[in-house]
Amino acid sequence: MTELFDYSGRTVFVAGGTSGINLEVARAFARAGASVAVLSRNRDKVDAAVEELAEYGGWAMGFAADVRDYEAVAAALTAAREQFGYIDVLVSGAAGNFPAAAADMSARGFSAVVDIDLKGTYHLLRAAYEHLRKPGAAVINISAPQSSIAMEMQAHACAAKAGVDMVTRVCALEWGPAGVRVNAVAPGPISGTEGMARLAPTPELEQVVTESVPLGRYGNAAEIADSCLWLGSPMASYITGVVLPVDGGWSLGGAAQLFAGVRKMFAATP
Ligand code: NAP
Repeated sequence: MTELFDYSGRTVFVAGGTSGINLEVARAFARAGASVAVLSRNRDKVDAAVEELAEYGGWAMGFAADVRDYEAVAAALTAAREQFGYIDVLVSGAAGNFPAAAADMSARGFSAVVDIDLKGTYHLLRAAYEHLRKPGAAVINISAPQSSIAMEMQAHACAAKAGVDMVTRVCALEWGPAGVRVNAVAPGPISGTEGMARLAPTPELEQVVTESVPLGRYGNAAEIADSCLWLGSPMASYITGVVLPVDGGWSLGGAAQLFAGVRKMFAATP
């Protein structure tokens, strides 16, 4: 661990940090010495994450709350700041997803994904602003390739994550003068996650996705966590307003290549 990635004495808040990619992000910051707060809906998941994160030696705390509930999000951020001090790194990763064609999806399903991914991210950033260390804080939103590439069966997630990218850029513009950097990471297909279990639930579908990735494999959550450690650190001190693909080149093939794989994938979904 170089000094640049030493987060001792730093406060990191991870929304959605109780499973999958976001929990791995929380683990990485905890191992790097940060005090880490996590938030998600399920109390058991929150308690388990806090117990594990505390084992890495720093302080950990958690909140059972829904990012759709602005007051609950604001109360959690206030409590984290009172306990741990100003927030140095804020990660917004809470999200929901399910495959459904636009013409079949219920209006409620579309709204739920937009409410969690997009409005939840805005709630988090809006409520966190007063608690961010200024200058010096870094905000990292967890986006997705769907934010810039139209993907069948993903109208809700495409719309929501596109919005997340624009919130990222606008806040980077507005908060730059206060010394707050705002970036996003767009993971490709990540192994062992709830997200990919829903979108590619069989080995055959996993193979279709794997073949559409230039690096020829799924990524792993630690690779996303590493990119967050870097974006939150002084190594990225002049980077703001960026949506960083961490996807093995998945998005490089552009819509054509991605569409081909994804269309086959959903056609084969039982
Ligand atoms: P995951 O394990 O399902 O993680 C989602 C987290 O968000 C969970 O901790 C969940 O906990 C929390 N959450 C969901 N709805 C919430 C709400 N309304 N309020 C508060 N917390 C909520 O999913 P993942 O696959 O690792 O994905 C993590 C992030 O990476 C997401 O932003 C996703 O869009 C992005 N991503 C994933 C992939 C992939 O390959 N998996 C690819 C691209 C982008 P509770 O159930 O306790 O609320």
